[in-house]
Amino acid sequence: METDAPQSVVDVAEGLDVSALLDINHPLKQEVADWASDHLDAADLVQRDAASSFDRTQWDRVAATGLLGSAVSRDYGGTGDDLVTTTLKLEGLGYGCRDNGLATAVAAQMLIVQHVLSSFGTEAQRRSLLPRMVSGELIGAFAATEQDAGSDTFSMATRAEADEDGYRLSGRKSYVTLGPIADVAVVFASTNPDVGRWGVSAFLVRAGRPGVTFTTSRDKMGLRTSPLGDIELDGYLAGADDLIGQPGSGASIFSATMEPERGLMFATQLGAAHRIIDESVTASKTREQYGQPIGTFQAVSHRIAEMRVMFESARLQTYRTAMLLASGRSVTLEAAMTKLVVSEAVAAIALDAVRVFGAVGYLSEYGIEREVRDALGGLVYSGTSDIQRNVIAALMEIPQ
Ligand SMILES: Cc1cc2nc3c(=O)[nH]c(=O)nc-3n(C[C@H](O)[C@H](O)[C@H](O)COP(=O)(O)OP(=O)(O)OC[C@H]3O[C@@H](n4cnc5c(N)ncnc54)[C@H](O)[C@@H]3O)c2cc1C
Repeated sequence: METDAPQSVVDVAEGLDVSALLDINHPLKQEVADWASDHLDAADLVQRDAASSFDRTQWDRVAATGLLGSAVSRDYGGTGDDLVTTTLKLEGLGYGCRDNGLATAVAAQMLIVQHVLSSFGTEAQRRSLLPRMVSGELIGAFAATEQDAGSDTFSMATRAEADEDGYRLSGRKSYVTLGPIADVAVVFASTNPDVGRWGVSAFLVRAGRPGVTFTTSRDKMGLRTSPLGDIELDGYLAGADDLIGQPGSGASIFSATMEPERGLMFATQLGAAHRIIDESVTASKTREQYGQPIGTFQAVSHRIAEMRVMFESARLQTYRTAMLLASGRSVTLEAAMTKLVVSEAVAAIALDAVRVFGAVGYLSEYGIEREVRDALGGLVYSGTSDIQRNVIAALMEIPQ
């Protein structure tokens, strides 16, 4: 990813919208937020959350705007936006779309699955899949984790054995976002266990074919409107043309994908945090106790001020990473720092909102308790906070 890397900070910003960094109410973010709030109906969200129900109609509505294709080249049906623009759009979606499960699923398909295809897929793989993903027709998933291979991803037990027809995949992938409704998944399997991570390869696995089961949704704490399940493989035949990259390049593909995933995918959560803060400010003015607005109590106003500071700090990290990534730099360190700061900030902001709202914040019908449940998953997926600290420390050359 270091190709043609710019040498100075000025070069990094050239051609990118620096106002994304400076303006927390950037017009593009605002435009997408307004659209989402007007067109993504949240009236039945409490019921859909309780039922763990994914709303395909709303997914299609998002796709019809072209948002899913934001970071995809025009050659494959996208709009070819730079990653700063894509991040602004996702932040706006997170603000306007109260269904955090939907917003997170959109970001995952864009910045993980479509990113893998755009960056590492063959021309035939891109042509056959990207336009149909951008249009909303196909849903994609990314399957690396296994029950016994979580943080230690490359200790995976899933195997891919080469034969004359291609590769036979066997094993079980767990906790796959969008897995239960995916048409196709990027699946990591070892083609050569003797060499550990250097023997891992990435494959396209298609639902509905012999030898693979995409399980039904697993019940979970938050992001309940975004289904999560397992993928069981039992001698599944992946053709040679379903291999992504070279045999043994899976670890490199995985690591490269962690950059947009950890660095930018949390933009939707950032948007949700902004919305929660705005709602807390409103409550500080309208909710009265002891004959005065609760915002007049310093305990409340300082809490909301801290929420704002956490949000803005997390936002600055996100757009700095977006600018560096958009300019072609490798951002392993920045992405880990961003993921750590944003996920922890969003969880803390959502929890503080419960304190601001009191009992209203605790009841399902008002939605604040759902924001807390939705935020907590971010502390785990894309690598836990501990794993981000390990990455940061290692890149600071601290002995591991
Ligand atoms: C909502 C959600 C969506 C997900 N979506 C996907 C997906 O689409 N695709 C996919 O492949 N996976 C997905 N995952 C799985 C996710 O990536 C893993 O859960 C995550 O990497 C952690 O692995 P684990 O759950 O096995 O925890 P473990 O690795 O067992 O960790 C348990 C604890 O030990 C700590 N720990 C482990 N190793 C170390 C270490 N070396 N140093 C310090 N602490 C350590 C962890 O920080 C944690 O506190 C998803 C998970 C969730 C919750």
